[in-house]
Amino acid sequence: MTSLLRRIVCSLAIAERQILGSHRGGAASLPIPDISHAWCHRCGATIPASDRVQDFESIATACRQCHGVRRARDRTTRLGVYDDQWREAILAVKHGRDRALARKLGTLLAVQWLRDSERSTGLLLDAIVVPVPMPFARRVERGINHASEIATAVSKRLGCPLLRCLEHAPGPTQAQLTRESRRSRPKRIHLRERGMPDLSSARLVFLVDDVLTTGSTADQSCNALRGAMGWVRIEMLVVAVTELSKTAMNQAKKCQFRTD
Ligand SMILES: [Zn+2]
Repeated sequence: MTSLLRRIVCSLAIAERQILGSHRGGAASLPIPDISHAWCHRCGATIPASDRVQDFESIATACRQCHGVRRARDRTTRLGVYDDQWREAILAVKHGRDRALARKLGTLLAVQWLRDSERSTGLLLDAIVVPVPMPFARRVERGINHASEIATAVSKRLGCPLLRCLEHAPGPTQAQLTRESRRSRPKRIHLRERGMPDLSSARLVFLVDDVLTTGSTADQSCNALRGAMGWVRIEMLVVAVTELSKTAMNQAKKCQFRTD
């Protein structure tokens, strides 16, 4: 059994190299995805080696803020930080409508999850893939639903059904909101009202998006899913995580030590 899993992981690594080598889209080349211990598997933030702690329920790594804490999503898998290279790839998908690149990113995300979750592959039998929804008007304006494109590739690689079961009510984009208003704005993500698929047998949901910033949209998606499905494990698969949360944390630490 172990050798079979090793063979699967090896073949996935080869597939990943082929994907990285074959990209000729808007970005010159895709960066190498982060190694597992570079980020907190709860929130997705980058954590320095000195701050890493073992998570309480698995072999995963957690930051000190997440250690032993329940979050709306059970786990986060990422490819990297939203810096120059991943940013370039994401913008090529979002604004360049590069669907082929979106599929490559989705396949990479699936490979990243499989590499990191060797012991959990049995969960795939009862898993579904759900993209974080985008408001209808924005979909029309951009001409692409990037999260859905990425999720399609995740679904194909993991062999789990893709269900677009969440909807996003119209409103300002993340970029148009301040950090505070992102956290306090009313909940706008809910389950689709018409033509809802049967979710009763699913035990694991892969929630897929391109960028994770505050996590507010992801958490609303998790809450909407749990409202309909009860207990279900939710794993976030995201291409890149912004470092805003880390910056905010550092700022908070500085404020704590201010004496004036
Ligand atoms: Zn964390």
